[in-house]
Amino acid sequence: MIIFDLVCEYDHSFEGWFKNNDEFKSQQSSGLLTCPVCDSENVVKVPSATNINLGKQKETIETTNKKHISPQQQQIALAQQVSQFIAKNFDDVGEKFSETAKKIHYGEEAERNIRGTATEEQTKELIEEGIEVLPIAIKKDSKPN
Ligand SMILES: [Zn+2]
Repeated sequence: MIIFDLVCEYDHSFEGWFKNNDEFKSQQSSGLLTCPVCDSENVVKVPSATNINLGKQKETIETTNKKHISPQQQQIALAQQVSQFIAKNFDDVGEKFSETAKKIHYGEEAERNIRGTATEEQTKELIEEGIEVLPIAIKKDSKPN
């Protein structure tokens, strides 16, 4: 079954259902195909302008989508921004993180944002002492112990 967009000589457009293209042609030539509005036998297939337009639209949509950043790329970009922010605004104290955090907490050192490494135990200890710690996992090449 195929559907054709048809139009009569008076510009009435309608749909015609046919078994195949041959059936459409035979109905058209034998005068069986008439306009449902004016009964004109002068019915032709609408030039496939609709299909051409749709094709162009599809192309436009696909092109637009390519410019969009995927959620994965957004996540990567966000992670990069976060690590850049930390690198810029946090003083790297390395393995002295726990020690320095305590010193800052007890006013022995100037208050500032610090970053560094701490063991799970050290982190727990800091939290127990009421020191604000935000554990961020940053992937590094694992060193053998
Ligand atoms: Zn008509």
